[in-house]
Amino acid sequence: AGSPVVVRLAGVEHHYGGVAALRGIDLDVHEGAVLGIVGANGAGKSTLGRILHGSLRPSGGTREASATGVRAVRTSLVPEGRALFKTLSLRENLEVAAYSVGLKGAALRAKLDETAEWLPPRLRDRLSVQAAGLSGGEQQMLAIARALMAGPDVLIVDEPALGLAPALVDEVYARLGELAEGGLTVVLLEQLLSRAMATCHDVVVLHEGVVAAHGPAADPAFATRAESAYFGGE
Ligand code: ATP
Repeated sequence: AGSPVVVRLAGVEHHYGGVAALRGIDLDVHEGAVLGIVGANGAGKSTLGRILHGSLRPSGGTREASATGVRAVRTSLVPEGRALFKTLSLRENLEVAAYSVGLKGAALRAKLDETAEWLPPRLRDRLSVQAAGLSGGEQQMLAIARALMAGPDVLIVDEPALGLAPALVDEVYARLGELAEGGLTVVLLEQLLSRAMATCHDVVVLHEGVVAAHGPAADPAFATRAESAYFGGE
C-alpha cells in the first residue's frame, strides 16, 4: 500500500435512469496492485470497471488518474463479452487498438511484435486468420492482447472467465498473473469470490452498488468477512 495511487475514485455514484448502480464508492488503485472487484450479478462491477477506465463518466463524485512522471496514467479495458471485430484478422484487431492511441509505422510494428510475443504460440502463428474462428479462450486472450496494444499502466479485465471451459479459465488467469508479475497494475472484475481471492492481492466486495468489504486476500479473517459481505451480510 506504500506505492503511489494511479486511479482514485471519491464519492462515486452512478445511476441508470432511476436505478442506482453504484453509491458512495471511495477506491484507490495502487501502482502494481492486483485488485479484484467481486460481486454477484448486477452488483455494479461492469459499471465500476468503466468508471475506473474513464470511458463512463459517473453521475456523481470524482475520478482522478494521476501522472506517472511525464504523462497521465493510461488505462485499458477488456470488456465483458470481449467485443472483438470478428470479421477482421487477429492482426487487424490488434492494429485497430494501436491506431486509437495514435501508433503508426515503425512504432506500431514494434508494439505488434511485442504483443504477439505475449500471445500463446498457437495464436502468434495465426495472426492473419479471422477472429471469428477462435475458441472462446483464444478470443479472450486476443481481447487482452488488444488492450495491451494501447500500452496501459492499468489493465482492467471484466469477467474474463465468462463462457470458458475450466482449463481455459486457468490459462487466461495464468497469463494475467504473468502480466501482473511483470509490473502491470491489474484490476480484475470477477463474479466468483474464490477465484478473486486466489488471484488477487486485494479484494473489494461489491454488494448492491456499495463496497461491502475491502481487504487483503491472504488474510483469513478477511476471507470470512468477504464471504459474508458477498451475500449481503455484515
Ligand atoms: P453482471 O455480472 O451481470 O455483469 P455487474 O456486477 O457487472 O453485473 P452492472 O452491469 O454494473 O453490474 O450493473 C449494475 C446495475 O445497473 C444492475 O442493476 C443493472 O441492471 C443496471 N444497469 C447496468 N447497465 C445498465 C443500463 N445500460 N441501463 C440500465 N440499467 C443498467
